Amino acid sequence: MTSAMQPASLLTKALRISVHGMVQGVGFRPFVFRLAHRHGLAGTVSNNGDGVLIHVSGPSAALDAFAVALEVEAPPVARINRIEMQAAESVPAEPSFRILPSQAGMRPSTQIAPDIALCADCLREIMDPDNRRYRYPFTNCTNCGPRFSIVERIPYDRPHTSMRVFPMCEACNREYHDPFDRRFHAQPNACPVCGPRLSWHDNKGKLLPGDELALAAQALGEGRVVAIKGLGGFHLAVDACADAAVAMLRVRKNRPSKPLAIMVRDLEAAARFCRLRDEEAALLTSLEHPIVLVERKENSGLAQNIAPGLGHIGLMLPYTPLHYLLLNQPDIPPALVMTSGNRSDEPICIGNEEALCRLHGLADFFLLHNRDIVTRVDDSVARIMDGKVRLLRRARGYSPVPILLRQPTENILACGAEMKNSFCIVRNNEAYISQHIGELTEAKNYAFYRESIDHLQTVLEVSPERVACDRHPDYLSSRYALGRTTLCREIQHHHAHIGAVMAEQGLEGPVLGVVLDGAGYGGDGTIFGGEVYRADRNGFTRLARLSHLLLPGGDRAAEQPWRMALALLYQDMGPEALVEAQQPPALLTIARDKKHLLGQMMVKRLHCPRTSSCGRLFDAVAALLGLCLMSDYEGQAAMLLEYQATLAAAEEVVSVYPLVMSEEGILIIESASLAALICRDLAAGVAIPIIARRFHLWLVESLCAVLNVLHKRAGLTDVVVSGGCMQNKLLFETLAKQLRAAGFSVHAGELAPMNDGGIALGQAFIGGHVCV
Ligand SMILES: [Zn+2]
Ligand SMILES: [Zn+2]
Repeated sequence: MTSAMQPASLLTKALRISVHGMVQGVGFRPFVFRLAHRHGLAGTVSNNGDGVLIHVSGPSAALDAFAVALEVEAPPVARINRIEMQAAESVPAEPSFRILPSQAGMRPSTQIAPDIALCADCLREIMDPDNRRYRYPFTNCTNCGPRFSIVERIPYDRPHTSMRVFPMCEACNREYHDPFDRRFHAQPNACPVCGPRLSWHDNKGKLLPGDELALAAQALGEGRVVAIKGLGGFHLAVDACADAAVAMLRVRKNRPSKPLAIMVRDLEAAARFCRLRDEEAALLTSLEHPIVLVERKENSGLAQNIAPGLGHIGLMLPYTPLHYLLLNQPDIPPALVMTSGNRSDEPICIGNEEALCRLHGLADFFLLHNRDIVTRVDDSVARIMDGKVRLLRRARGYSPVPILLRQPTENILACGAEMKNSFCIVRNNEAYISQHIGELTEAKNYAFYRESIDHLQTVLEVSPERVACDRHPDYLSSRYALGRTTLCREIQHHHAHIGAVMAEQGLEGPVLGVVLDGAGYGGDGTIFGGEVYRADRNGFTRLARLSHLLLPGGDRAAEQPWRMALALLYQDMGPEALVEAQQPPALLTIARDKKHLLGQMMVKRLHCPRTSSCGRLFDAVAALLGLCLMSDYEGQAAMLLEYQATLAAAEEVVSVYPLVMSEEGILIIESASLAALICRDLAAGVAIPIIARRFHLWLVESLCAVLNVLHKRAGLTDVVVSGGCMQNKLLFETLAKQLRAAGFSVHAGELAPMNDGGIALGQAFIGGHVCV
């Protein structure tokens, strides 16, 4: 039969397809191979410089089906950015379909997949007594398992990972080379015969014999603290249902009240402790398996001291086979606290020796293994707000997946902020935000920071000449930047917050930007933190702010909210505020001489910078209400105030705190009169949740009023909201809703955190602007 007589669907055609994105090391070639076989097509597939190249030929109907399936059925870990398809002139002379080996000298793709939670197939295997991987804690396949945390350099091949010291046994080797197998080219492939192993140690590091998982479960059941080596670092685990065990961990970690994350076996167990919405359940079981902030149930059996004073809790499900197996032990407590294995604000431990040394005195036992962690990656933290997944800490499962920038951006290193630091490298318009680094003021974190910049540059094979940093001259990240190059652009803190959202959402601007946070370097001698701007990539203009409060003692005020309460009272009534009769009951618990000293500082303006910080205003209100006089972790006062506000039924709250706006070149939201109004409510016996809610409403309505004025003047309708205060779900959702009702489009961070963890992306976006 000649081709002229065939129906069109049977005509033999050929295609050349290139697939761009994260498609190497994620099982893409074997997927293409199996797909081609299923459709009876011939040709080849190979890796090339920036993706996968496919030559394929066969009947045109089969080719069409192949092309559709290529995108629709792609392996779960793959991220396709773009597929280019061209008709090939000649049909390749391949009799069947083959995977071509990578060519020597070919520049490999430098996209590295993040660490991915255990897949359903692997889970089935480790729970199946007849499977050779039954109860094996290091089971993985091309669709799951460690990636970023074990890579030393590119290309992503076993010899370049910490798995290189485990030669594969015959059975594993066979899987690795069989394109029909799920473990074809799975670099960390391992089994009980050839792979990493667990070991169980006492608090002095002595190896103890026995079934490690059973012993760990027993120790946890007895209320002991166990250090567990996981995927991107160590956790400290205790029984989350035992107040005494949690209290002991808190004492040892010197962490009196900071909320602790928990891990439970599955969604069913989660539902026992929390009220889960569908989107939250979906996020908990996603490929990334982050910690999700969810609403806690009362009297669920969870220890009272897991998250004191808060209505939500950080919850995660097991994401490695080790975690699954542990939580499926018969005697294990139904929920485990799983907090970062570190001392206070230091980076999370990764090495066995390091953990035995640094966690000495914190853990009673150590559950170790002999697969090295190359790169520290903490657990990511997310919250569903305003219907979207919002990352509050971006790390495991998300790093190092790039954000594709829609606007042209130069290659650049952005050094990030000082607290909750992450940095960002842009290469070929792809923004790689580093994993969460932490507070740079901690020396070990600063070392981790520099190490991570070097590592990411190695992995990405790029060393940008351009650098961006915060304007704050004392940030260690700024000093690092200025020490590295003279080609450094200093980006204002809030401009970077707004820029991050513009970068992520592809906004051209100009936009109205609302930034509410703790402290941003203003450059005019005051500390910013409650501002509204007109901004685009080129610059920004401040249009409105919260009225100034004194910040008695500077940074110390952030740790001692009672100082801010007194500052707010002082703003309203001057020295009269120092008379105890004018103070609410909570402030009477503060020693008189301390308050006197503070009063003198304010009267004489000694060490009292002025601030428009929204975070400090939250501190002031929380302290007036007696919720938090001394803060034990960052954001504590605001979080306690948020929870109280959620306890007030919306119908019992009417907005009663009047909006006062003034203008001094820019618009000013006057907050001083709040102090008297709150004290009046307290004296009248109004419940604290209602006062807390009224304050939230006052803030939202004030901001909306300001934005309406600005809209009339500037005509802009795109509003970007950002800053650490926006992690407050009640504040953020109420504000977004009211702004939308007023006709604005509201944009906020999703993949880039709203807190300072997102700053680096904004710095890169602004600093890397290609000026034409
Ligand atoms: Zn798997
Ligand atoms: Zn093996």
